[in-house]
Amino acid sequence: MSDTHNASEALFARARRVSPGGVHSPVRGFRGVGGTPRFMVGGHGARLRDVDGREYVDYCMAFGPLILGHADPAVRAAAEAALARGWSLGTAEPYSLDLAELIVSRIPWVESIRFVNSGTEAVMSALRVARGATLRSKILKFEGCYHGHTDSMLLRAGSGLAEAPLPDSAGLAPDVVQETLIAPLDDIEALERLFAARGSQIAAAIIEPLPANYGLLPQRAEFLAALARLTRSHGALLIFDEVISGFRIGFQGYAGVCGIRPDLVTYGKVIGGGFPVGAYGGRRDLMELVAPAGPVYQAGTLSANPLAMSAGLAALQQLLDGRIYGQLEALGARLERALDGIPGLAVQRVGSIFWICISGHGRPTTPMRTPARFPLDAGASFKGPFHALLEQGIYLAPSAFEVGFLSAAHTEAHVDELAAALRTLLADLPR
Ligand code: PMP
Repeated sequence: MSDTHNASEALFARARRVSPGGVHSPVRGFRGVGGTPRFMVGGHGARLRDVDGREYVDYCMAFGPLILGHADPAVRAAAEAALARGWSLGTAEPYSLDLAELIVSRIPWVESIRFVNSGTEAVMSALRVARGATLRSKILKFEGCYHGHTDSMLLRAGSGLAEAPLPDSAGLAPDVVQETLIAPLDDIEALERLFAARGSQIAAAIIEPLPANYGLLPQRAEFLAALARLTRSHGALLIFDEVISGFRIGFQGYAGVCGIRPDLVTYGKVIGGGFPVGAYGGRRDLMELVAPAGPVYQAGTLSANPLAMSAGLAALQQLLDGRIYGQLEALGARLERALDGIPGLAVQRVGSIFWICISGHGRPTTPMRTPARFPLDAGASFKGPFHALLEQGIYLAPSAFEVGFLSAAHTEAHVDELAAALRTLLADLPR
């Protein structure tokens, strides 16, 4: 059916001439699944529309921000009103204050917050605060967790690196990389050994408390509790990277679910309602170290952009009463049930985040809590079903290692259709 994708193919050929891989963020380029990325021209509700006029039920949702669906009317109205007032002020303004107060009043461990433009920036800044506060230099990260593309975090990272030939990026500054320590997920003894040997050098441990960048790898509560205990007893800070899980798993993110209070937390995605926003926040004494209050420098020309702040506020206000989280949990549970027992397929899900793992050697063994437990053919086995779904008008994120997202715009009929399509496609795989 490739003749129906003429416009995407023509645009991809042009794009590759002027941009690396024809895209502006790696996973968009379909390297992990092969073929031509569909060039999308718009989205509405649960649907994306491509340049060839075809529609898709979208389970990527811009990689997470769109918890309300595409073009949510309230977010749109807030953004349009902001646009009419002037969209970049470069001054103190009230719009970021509204968003900051909303967050600080609802999340006890966020006593103070600073807005930036991306999750990467939020992480970079939180790491700098941790080093400034502890006067130590090492940062501990976990294998398979992704924390954006700052040098020190591009080691054993997930997301686009999960499907790259090497687990670390090229081009990293060797001195910077030496400051990163890496531990496996789900291994308390390894963590204890590492802290016993290096604990006094560690400024902070950073973790996605719900790792969602190498498939979805929910951690045991004891593991997160051990990490919290070890950081505290060694004078290191605990940073939860909730760029994906923040405001998605519940208003208080995964920290709210697991009951562990991080010293610092990073946000992105949902917090901006689909506009470019990131944020870092946490204990007041730590955040007071940030310029101009304190000596840790961090700045941004377009930070707290009024358009993005207004859109973020309009999105978060709809999530406050918890109704949408309840609706998404029910929808997620329905999808999980409908996928149960499909040959060669395992699903791991928390709330509205799901991960489908496919293997030609029978059903992958769950729970998977580390990338090391994956079936070896997980990447290759995803390609066929991915393209077959695409042809049927169902858009999953184009990589076996990316998770799927449900939104308030998805319906029971949508998830039933996804499960039925997979059941038919995989009927012949070994069980
Ligand atoms: N941290 C986590 C947990 C993420 O998932 C991501 C992006 N997927 C980032 C940080 C980086 O965010 P951004 O892409 O906005 O820079």
